[in-house]
Amino acid sequence: MKVLKFGGTSVANAQNILLVENIIKKEASESKIIVVVSALHGVTDQLIKAAESASQKDENYTQIIKNLEEKHLNVVKELIPVLEQSSWLSFVKKHFNDIEDICNGIFVLGEFTDRIKDKITSYGEFLSSNIIAAKLKFEGLDAHWMNSSEQIITNSNFTNAKVNFERTEQNLRKYLNENQHQIIIAPGFIAKDEKENPTTLGRGGSDFTASIIASAINADELQIWTDVSGMMTSDPRLVSNAKPIAEISYSEAMELSHFGAKVLYPPTLQPVMVKNIDLKIKNTFEPEAFGTLISHQLEKQNFENQQIAVGISNMSNIALLTLEGSGMIGIPGFSAKLFQCLSNEKVNVILITQSSSEHSITVAIHEKDIFNAKNAIDFVFEDDLKLKRVEPVKIETNLAIVALVGENMKSRSGVSAKMFGCLGNNGINIRAIAQGSSEKNISIVISEKDTKKAVNVLHEDFFESEIKQVHLYICGTGNVGMKLIQQIYDQNEYLKENLLINLRITGLSNSRKMIFSDKGISENELENFNKNGEDASVEKFAQEIISRNLRNSVFVDVTASSDIPNIYEKLLKKSVNIVACNKIAASSDFENYKNLKSVARNHSCKFFFETNVGAGLPIIGTINDLMRSGDKITSIQAVLSGTLNFVFNNYDSKQTFSEVVLQAQKEGYTEPDPRLDLAGTDVARKILILAREAGYSLEFNEIENESFLPEECMKGSVEDFYNALLKYESHFKNLLDNAKKDGKILKYVAEFNEGKAKVGLQHIAPESDLYHLYGKDNIVIFKTLRYSEQPLVVKGAGAGAEVTASGVFADIVRSV
Ligand code: ADP
Ligand code: ASP
Ligand code: MG
Repeated sequence: MKVLKFGGTSVANAQNILLVENIIKKEASESKIIVVVSALHGVTDQLIKAAESASQKDENYTQIIKNLEEKHLNVVKELIPVLEQSSWLSFVKKHFNDIEDICNGIFVLGEFTDRIKDKITSYGEFLSSNIIAAKLKFEGLDAHWMNSSEQIITNSNFTNAKVNFERTEQNLRKYLNENQHQIIIAPGFIAKDEKENPTTLGRGGSDFTASIIASAINADELQIWTDVSGMMTSDPRLVSNAKPIAEISYSEAMELSHFGAKVLYPPTLQPVMVKNIDLKIKNTFEPEAFGTLISHQLEKQNFENQQIAVGISNMSNIALLTLEGSGMIGIPGFSAKLFQCLSNEKVNVILITQSSSEHSITVAIHEKDIFNAKNAIDFVFEDDLKLKRVEPVKIETNLAIVALVGENMKSRSGVSAKMFGCLGNNGINIRAIAQGSSEKNISIVISEKDTKKAVNVLHEDFFESEIKQVHLYICGTGNVGMKLIQQIYDQNEYLKENLLINLRITGLSNSRKMIFSDKGISENELENFNKNGEDASVEKFAQEIISRNLRNSVFVDVTASSDIPNIYEKLLKKSVNIVACNKIAASSDFENYKNLKSVARNHSCKFFFETNVGAGLPIIGTINDLMRSGDKITSIQAVLSGTLNFVFNNYDSKQTFSEVVLQAQKEGYTEPDPRLDLAGTDVARKILILAREAGYSLEFNEIENESFLPEECMKGSVEDFYNALLKYESHFKNLLDNAKKDGKILKYVAEFNEGKAKVGLQHIAPESDLYHLYGKDNIVIFKTLRYSEQPLVVKGAGAGAEVTASGVFADIVRSV
């Protein structure tokens, strides 16, 4: 004999009930079956709502009841043959009249007790099971309705009654012996106490009814039919990549359901486990899917080659309650007193942690129990509080529990390190930790708002060794920004396949507009960005990133804005990685630069800015590698400005200096005001950043900068500047001729030596490494303790949108 249970969604409407009927027919053709059903989807909630409204004198309760009646009448009309309908329609109407009478009573008295709650919610399962039994009979099946509440006997703990297993099993065996039918249909959830009052087994309790029946009759199998294809590696509502778990042991399933996997009501496993009855979780809407098998055969398996964890559960609305005080140390029975008083108040303790000093004990409970728990503790510990042996109980709210579950964890080291590591990297603060003594789970308490992120991060690390999801927020849609976005679109498939990361542009902003999309901004959305985006604001952009709270987030600054770096620190503190092409932050005050680096370190995230110097060339990365391996940079000599290199490579006295600068500007190499390049400010910033990365604390104004521009060129507008260049053509020609006369050429060079930096024009001889440098190439020559004779040279294209974007891209990939 098998027991099948169908949940609320499975019997939500006539159409679904027909699917259920097919499953029943198939199973009943193989063996006798008992079918337990829930109320139609949402009915229990609505019945409670009607009664609650009535108790609050809200007359809307009659409408709620009307709607529920309508829902049931519709199911009858669609399922029962027309000629037979009237008695079933009256059946439904009669019971809704009863429901309304009860609610009228509640309305008058203004009182809604747990006893009445059980009476009223019982109607849900009572009605659904009767209608389904009738439908099966009309189909010509040997189906018979059994009233579970006559068979299942409980105490009078209304809304969560405890089952008297001995009496219940006797009743069930007797009844099922006397009533031999191919199919027995029974309502889940409902029972009665010794005094014949209706009771219920707790929300979600139909699973439990089925398990009680399966255990009583030693069923061959219990099948729980629901709306997902099995118990999954995480709550599928939170984790889109959650996968069904094909096989799992009773104890693992128990841990997952205890910590919130709603698919199975926690008490369900116990009755079938003691009888070694297999439990299958199946999907009514996809009956061919394998689902999940929970079996005793899986209990003592050799888990050597299996996964560390089987699933992750989460639970919301959690409060932490901490009792602490010197009076707790070494006094036996202190904890027992706490747990006894909570148990007396029916407060469910979900998790316990005790610090090793025994100075404090912390328990996690449901938020709804706070009031009762606190009152009970204050009462029981009244003397200890007066004598100051304990502090007043401390309560923290808005928390959630996340539990990583797996039988195999006990045989592996480093599981908790991995778990805490990946949470830490995403800035998720852990409030409390508990590991069951059986080491089948590690549970943590975190802020409620971090739940989705935490579950996804853990899921990715423990179950999706395949692909890591990265969320990008890009500021800047200029040349570099647009090239970067294109490279991301083009490269995404390659990255998925080869580096196992999936880059998603979750937010995008320029100085006018911004847009967000958790699913990733598509190329189409990008095209309409300027039209559909909301008005841009740097602060709002940062706020959105923080409130979205997505895992593996990277903020990418491809602007030259001086405002945007103001949000870096705030983002780093939320563990958002920063990749900046913008050099303002790294070349600002040393204190600020140092602070950003240490904030990043303290929050386990990255602050990368490789493209600040030499575009995509590996310059900063090279310094970092040298330093990490214990080398010391003693001097740097470099040509770091694509613009200045272009200007001096092309200035050969055939064209005026002014014409060459104009050409550089037209080709897009210079800043809008070319003086920023020509005055050496940009180069000075770059050598500053290199010196700092090499471990020297330097400020911008300490850099010696001998300008080759006559003072007059620095005054007035850009137009004035070009006029001044013309006026001083002979000055520039002199500079060139002086160099040429010794067979040398002009290069704008940055140098760092013995802790000092300078930038300026130099005459470069043909034997110098700096001589053969063409177009907009950059070169950096490092001398270090190890590279003391022959320097380490990095050379190549040091400007241009494409190479800069690829440098930013590389930083992004390295940052996650
Ligand atoms: P039923 O009405 O059939 O009893 P429930 O709503 O009680 O169904 O349970 C099924 C739901 O549990 C799924 O739709 C899913 O959203 C949720 N759920 C939460 N955690 C898990 C999990 N780990 N595996 C499967 N489902 C889960
Ligand atoms: N109908 C009850 C509830 O919604 C029991 C169940 O569906 O399992 O909680
Ligand atoms: Mg359920």
